[in-house]
Amino acid sequence: MNIHEYQGKAVLREYGVPVARGRAIFAPAEAEAAAQELGGPVWVVKSQIHAGGRGKGTFKEAEAGDKGGVRLARSVEEVKAYARQMLGHTLVTVQTGPAGKQVNRLYIEEGAEIASEFYLSMLVDRATGRIALVVSTEGGMDIEQVAQDSPDKIVTVTIDPATGLMPHHGRTVAKALGLTGSLAKQAEDLTAKLYQAFLAKDMEMLEINPLVVTKGGELRCLDAKLAFDGNALYRHPDIVALRDLTEEDEKEIEASKHDLAYIALDGTIGCMVNGAGLAMATLDIIKLYGEEPANFLDVGGGASEEKVTAAFQIITADPNVKGILVNIFGGIMKCDVIARGVIAAVKTVGLQVPLVVRLEGTNVAQGQEIIRASGLNVIAAEDLDDAAQKIVAAVRGAGHA
Ligand code: GDP
Ligand code: MN
Repeated sequence: MNIHEYQGKAVLREYGVPVARGRAIFAPAEAEAAAQELGGPVWVVKSQIHAGGRGKGTFKEAEAGDKGGVRLARSVEEVKAYARQMLGHTLVTVQTGPAGKQVNRLYIEEGAEIASEFYLSMLVDRATGRIALVVSTEGGMDIEQVAQDSPDKIVTVTIDPATGLMPHHGRTVAKALGLTGSLAKQAEDLTAKLYQAFLAKDMEMLEINPLVVTKGGELRCLDAKLAFDGNALYRHPDIVALRDLTEEDEKEIEASKHDLAYIALDGTIGCMVNGAGLAMATLDIIKLYGEEPANFLDVGGGASEEKVTAAFQIITADPNVKGILVNIFGGIMKCDVIARGVIAAVKTVGLQVPLVVRLEGTNVAQGQEIIRASGLNVIAAEDLDDAAQKIVAAVRGAGHA
C-alpha cells in the first residue's frame, strides 16, 4: 500500500528523521493560512499524487500553468496562485501514464536551500531475503537511468537481520555519499532512524529522492515515497487510515471487497484462474505466445458462484481487455460452480470479447455441459497450452478485423 509524500514524512518524523515543516491542504482557500503559519521566505508547493516525477510533470489544463507539479514560491501570494492553479487539475508524469492523475491535495513546505542532492532507498531485496539499502550521489534523478548509465555510482548495502543495522552500515552510507565530519554523523544517524521506521512499520520500500544537504549544512529528506507490506497492514491501523482510495485502481478496490487476489496489469488478455501458481503459469504462457495479460486474478480454492461472477465483472469492466481466458483446475473448486458463475456474469454484463475456457478436474463434465447448454459463444480448450494459443489467436483475429 502506498501513501502520499506528506503522510510519509509525518511517519518518518515520528522516528526523528529530518524533514521540513509543512501543511497539507485540500482547497485553495487553505493556502494562505498554511503559508503564513510556515512563515517563508521560501515555500515549496507540492502536488500530492501517488506517482513520482512530479517536478518534471506537466498539467493537462492550460490554466494550471507550465511550471510542473512541484513549485518554489517566494511570497504568500505566489503560494496562493500556485494552489489555485494546481488543485483540481490533472498532472501527467513519467509514472502516471498518459491519463495523468488529478491533484486533490497539496503539500506546502518550508523551502530548503540545496547544496547537494543524493539518492537513498531501502527495500526488501527478494534475491537475498534481506533489507537492502541503496545510495547514490546522483540525487534527484531517475534511479533506473543511473543504474543503466553509471551503475558504479550506486552503492548497495545488505543488512543481516540477525544483527540489524550496525554503525558500519551508516559509515558505508556516509562514505558512499562523500560526507565527512558532522554530515557523516548525520548520515549515520539518519540511516539508523530510517531502518528503525522501515522495520517498525513493515515497509516494503522507502525512497528518499532527493536526500539533500542544505546550505546550512544539514541533511534533510526532501521527498519521501513509502510503500507498506499489504500482508502486515493488520498490525498498522494508523497506516491503513492513511489510505487514499482515489489513488488506487478501482478494479483492485472492487476485487478486495470480494476477497479476490487481483492485480491489474497492462496487457489485453483478462485471466480468471484459481490458485496463485496456476495463475502465474497462465500469465507466463500467454507471454510465451506473444501477448500480454491484463491482470493477475486468483479466485481462490473455494470460490462461490457470486465470487466468480464478481471476478468476471471486474475483468470485463477493463476497457483494455480484448479477450478472456478462464483457466480452472477443479480441486476443491468445482468446475460446475465456475461455469455457472461465468454464465451468470455474462448474462449480467454481456460478452463483447472472445472467451476461452479451459476446465479440468472435479465435475469437469457438468461444467462443460453447463457452458455448452448456455448457447454462449465460448471457445473450449483442451489444456493450458491449447487455451493460451486459442486466446492469443482470438485476440489477434479481433485486432485485425
Ligand atoms: P518528484 O519530482 O515527484 O520526485 O518530487 P520531489 O519531491 O523530488 O521534488 C522535485 C524537485 O523539486 C526536487 O528534486 C528538488 O530539485 C526540487 N525541490 C523540492 N523541494 C525543494 C526545496 O525545498 N527547495 C528547493 N530549492 N528545491 C526543492
Ligand atoms: Mn523525488
